[in-house]
Amino acid sequence: MPEIRYNFLKDTYVIFSAERAKRPHDYFREPEAEIGIVEKCPFEYGNEDKTPPEVFAIREKGTKPNTPGWKIRVVPNKYPALKPEDNFLEKQEGLFKKFTGYGYHEIIIETPDHFKQIYNFSVEEIKLLLISIKNRFQEISKDKNIKYIQYFKNYGKEAGCSLFHSHSQIIATPLIPKEVATKISQLKGFYKKEKSCYLCKEIDFELKENKRIVYENESFIAYCPYYSIFPFEVRVIPKKHSNRFDNINEKEMTFLSKALKVITQKIYKTLNNPAFNIILYTNPVNTDIEHIEKFNHWYIEILPRVNIMAGFEFGTGWYINTTYPEDASQFLKESDI
Ligand SMILES: [Zn+2]
Ligand SMILES: [Zn+2]
Repeated sequence: MPEIRYNFLKDTYVIFSAERAKRPHDYFREPEAEIGIVEKCPFEYGNEDKTPPEVFAIREKGTKPNTPGWKIRVVPNKYPALKPEDNFLEKQEGLFKKFTGYGYHEIIIETPDHFKQIYNFSVEEIKLLLISIKNRFQEISKDKNIKYIQYFKNYGKEAGCSLFHSHSQIIATPLIPKEVATKISQLKGFYKKEKSCYLCKEIDFELKENKRIVYENESFIAYCPYYSIFPFEVRVIPKKHSNRFDNINEKEMTFLSKALKVITQKIYKTLNNPAFNIILYTNPVNTDIEHIEKFNHWYIEILPRVNIMAGFEFGTGWYINTTYPEDASQFLKESDI
């Protein structure tokens, strides 16, 4: 019998079809090798002038901005989806509404090494990425026009990545996007009724059940959510309640880096180098939502793109998942890294 599970955070449903249940090797694909021409890559040492000037970098002592010597470098996107120009304005066009395309779109060049991908990074290298994200969150949120800052990483073609050199992106928007608004409204509803944070309860429940946990350290827990929309989806979440990613401290950053290293390596190994997205969910900025610090709980999701979202998903907002999280977590847990 298929099963329909309620996804509380998205306020939608996920169909788990047991008949179509798949094991990791069913998802294997030919790994792509579109490495490109290294010399022409805009993210190489010596090609710093091929990107807009950097807005943040961690560099070797004594090296100048926009020259080699960086370990990680953040630049505005050359072809930004949104720009911090003109004021943020709303306009009515007859029946329709539009806004000026105000916002930020930045690229984090995660390493100078063209061939190194996140699952090969050291804990220290992942930490540099976290430091950069935190810095950009703190800087961008000073702009009162900005309401949400989305960090994301696309790895592999199926996940929307067009450049081989390891990088991720930040898009800051002047409105709270729907997925975020839905989560906030769901978490708020739970808090009003139960007087506690839903995700803190979910962590407690996952620990008690111990059916979907993949990894745990002092500060973070990683599990395949009960209502996963993608096969092998993993959530990495702080055990201690916190509504904002940018409140993370040094020690927690080390533990998060360790968790991300383990999970990305396990996914790489178990699914044979799949495409994936990494998404950070955190608090909106420059908005007053009562009690949000109590009911919002930030987390990171790693979403392998082994299933294709198609007509049914677009038409209904429901999802079909072909691997139960109880099985996915087991496969990931058992992979020896
Ligand atoms: Zn490169
Ligand atoms: Zn919480």
